[in-house]
Amino acid sequence: MDIDSIECVIDNDEIHHHLNHQFSSTKSHGGATVATNIVGPTAIAPATSVYELLECPVCTNSMYPPIHQCHNGHTLCSTCKARVHNRCPTCRQELGDIRCLALEKVAESLELPCKYYNLGCPEIFPYYSKLKHESLCNFRPYSCPYAGSECAVVGDITYLVAHLRDDHKVDMHTGCTFNHRYVKSNPREVENATWMLTVFHCFGQYFCLHFEAFQLGMAPVYMAFLRFMGDEEDARNYTYSLEVGGSGRKLTWEGTPRSVRDSHRKVRDSHDGLIIQRNMALFFSGGDRKELKLRVTGRIWKEQQNPDSGVCIPNMCV
Ligand SMILES: [Zn+2]
Ligand SMILES: [Zn+2]
Ligand SMILES: [Zn+2]
Ligand SMILES: [Zn+2]
Repeated sequence: MDIDSIECVIDNDEIHHHLNHQFSSTKSHGGATVATNIVGPTAIAPATSVYELLECPVCTNSMYPPIHQCHNGHTLCSTCKARVHNRCPTCRQELGDIRCLALEKVAESLELPCKYYNLGCPEIFPYYSKLKHESLCNFRPYSCPYAGSECAVVGDITYLVAHLRDDHKVDMHTGCTFNHRYVKSNPREVENATWMLTVFHCFGQYFCLHFEAFQLGMAPVYMAFLRFMGDEEDARNYTYSLEVGGSGRKLTWEGTPRSVRDSHRKVRDSHDGLIIQRNMALFFSGGDRKELKLRVTGRIWKEQQNPDSGVCIPNMCV
């Protein structure tokens, strides 16, 4: 068994550094392979296709009822209509409140491939139910799992791993065991903190280890948990354990990693991980209890057959 030891010391300055860095780097959407407006295999595409007519000329999103038009017949979506102060963006005439029922009816008769068609989704849907499917489609890109800031980057797992390493400067480790030290010099002054995440690569998969400080009711706590970089169905093939202790006491946690489809916030709020009361954490830290020095060890393993599949644990199935 090879355990690599990682020292993780992050103060507020460093968190800010990472935030700034991240904001300056979200512009590069280069690798995200999100395609829109795909004309699928069964769709016939005339020169000016009806699909183009259904694209809002202002924001270029697909239009859904109510579709609006001006007196001259220029169409626009309801989101844009609310923004243009009653002036048609195309001809500058007064917009009024005219609905384009004909176009809405045409849309109703259409069937379109899922917009993640080129990422592998084979499904075809009536125009109006397409959106709902796309919000849940298994082929949709993943959001960046970096916690502690809103990062808008999306992509497949390979792309996101490179993004975490290059843009967020996240530590990458190979192996299914870990030994990670979390240090904070003034833990009593910090109620909410997100430590730098760490990515582990084992079994050909990627896992994110999170560590956070927050208030649980009135009690300040720390929480460590693992997320799987992939879908929930595949996450169920793995189990992980976390252990923290000192002075002859220890706490352990064993669980199934959550998919990165669930935000770190959602996982945190469902308490699906190792939760350590601050007083206990400081006790484990030893010394004068003024400094947090927590050593979290852990292991990830693959389940042959998962007895948990389909089980819905209250509070975790939000
Ligand atoms: Zn629009
Ligand atoms: Zn107009
Ligand atoms: Zn799909
Ligand atoms: Zn990111």
